[in-house]
Amino acid sequence: MTKPFIDNQQRAEAYLARFKAGPVPHWIDGKPDAGAGETFDDLSPVDGRLLAKIARGREADVDRAAKAAGRAFPAWSRTTGSERRALLHKIADKIVARADEIAFIECMDSGQALRYMSKAALRAAENFRFFADRAPNAGNGLALPAEGQLNYTIRQPIGPVGVITPWNTPFMLSTWKIAPALAAGCTVVHKPAEWSPLTAMLLSEIAGEVLPAGVLNLVHGIGEEAGRALTEHPAIKAIGFVGESATGSRIMAQGAPTLKRVHFELGGKNPIVIFDDADLERAIDGALFMIYSLNGERCTSSSRALVQAGIYDEFVRSATERIKKIKIGHPLDPATELGPLIHVNHLEKVTRYYALAKQEGARVIEGGVGEKPARGYYAMPVLFADARNEMRIAQEEIFGPALTAIPFQDEAEALKLANDVRYGLTAYIWTRDVARAHRMAQGVEAGMVWINSENVRHLPAPFGGVKASGIGRDGGDYSFDFYMETKNIAVALGDHKIPKIGE
Ligand code: NAD
Repeated sequence: MTKPFIDNQQRAEAYLARFKAGPVPHWIDGKPDAGAGETFDDLSPVDGRLLAKIARGREADVDRAAKAAGRAFPAWSRTTGSERRALLHKIADKIVARADEIAFIECMDSGQALRYMSKAALRAAENFRFFADRAPNAGNGLALPAEGQLNYTIRQPIGPVGVITPWNTPFMLSTWKIAPALAAGCTVVHKPAEWSPLTAMLLSEIAGEVLPAGVLNLVHGIGEEAGRALTEHPAIKAIGFVGESATGSRIMAQGAPTLKRVHFELGGKNPIVIFDDADLERAIDGALFMIYSLNGERCTSSSRALVQAGIYDEFVRSATERIKKIKIGHPLDPATELGPLIHVNHLEKVTRYYALAKQEGARVIEGGVGEKPARGYYAMPVLFADARNEMRIAQEEIFGPALTAIPFQDEAEALKLANDVRYGLTAYIWTRDVARAHRMAQGVEAGMVWINSENVRHLPAPFGGVKASGIGRDGGDYSFDFYMETKNIAVALGDHKIPKIGE
């Protein structure tokens, strides 16, 4: 064990100690709220130990939170954009000040390697800063002059909203939804994932030092209990959801009786298409980074490599060499690239695909170096070579460190394979032929396309998927479109003739 690793473990223990004091509460109306006293266990994927007991929210807790958000809404929605900008920047400052604590706790709660989590905490602060700066203009609209009338639009916050988030990079992802909602003037009830709930508490604490009571509320709990209650609550006007496609369908049905507006960021089975004129080394870097970083538990991962036949063997040879060197280990070891998966159930799901790959006739190449720790939910990185697109390993979201590689002959076949899947979140195209790059980008069924690049986020750009990968877009002004209502106001410019009835 290296000294930095030992130091990191000591720091993590110091940060985690507070959770031994008693159950982690909800955060409702500006203060911690223990609910009815029921709890669930939060186990660490690193060693299976109990990290904390967490308040188990039920309908009554969601109702308290939704009502608090409802009470806080009129005043919060009337704050000026510059007031909201100042407050959200304060939240960002406080996130930066506690970035270390957030990153260490998240590593132990989610199994993600520290090398990625420290950046994720800072990206969360950036989310707040980005939307803070846009708050003063969030209400802007259009001028639509007509004959004799001026139509103009304004945007107004929709009301209290629910935000339901998944267990992968939970802190960063939560802020991606919550920051624009607050900047728009909405109040929020957040339901974080039950497998990695700890850092949501830190966000509530930070926001609680800055925001008026009731503006940001947190209810912990199980999806079918607290999550469902939130989607069904009549005071909640919209649900921003990140998670699995099947859960999205359920939420849509649950929200139907109260006509909820929904925004879904769902699963993916994203193609990375590599043509034989590409810079192969860079393409391989991009492919491997997007599937083997963050444990492969990433919606935008490049989980299907479609590789042109002439360079296919070279791709497999080179990728094999590289995955053999991926460092597996404890998330707090600075050397670790691949940590444990989130939960024993998820490990079982992912490794079932490893067995299935063999049954389906793919060549399974296992990678990874370093001693796999004795405890924890570790899956080795794998490459499923010589796969066919109709195999389940090419069609279903595995959400682990598994790359399915499929050869193709020409552009037409590449596009057909890329689109022959129910998902449509991202696509990555690698070629030096500019016209082909654009043709592929326009033809591929995905919400986001990167050409000759891994996923590099740009906060003003639209983020979201098509097909089973989502509904709606986040980012920049797109987020405000979701959290706000557009109102048209028409004013007569003179005494025009109004038709008379009943004369
Ligand atoms: P999940 O759908 O199981 O759970 C997500 C959240 O929904 C959790 O908080 C859960 O408690 C809640 N939930 C579950 N059932 C519910 C119900 N009936 N009503 C209301 N809430 C309910 O997803 P997960 O396993 O936590 O996350 C992994 C999934 O998230 C993957 O499919 C991944 O691709 C997707 N994801 C997508 C994006 C994106 O931007 N498109 C980003 C991250 C993750």
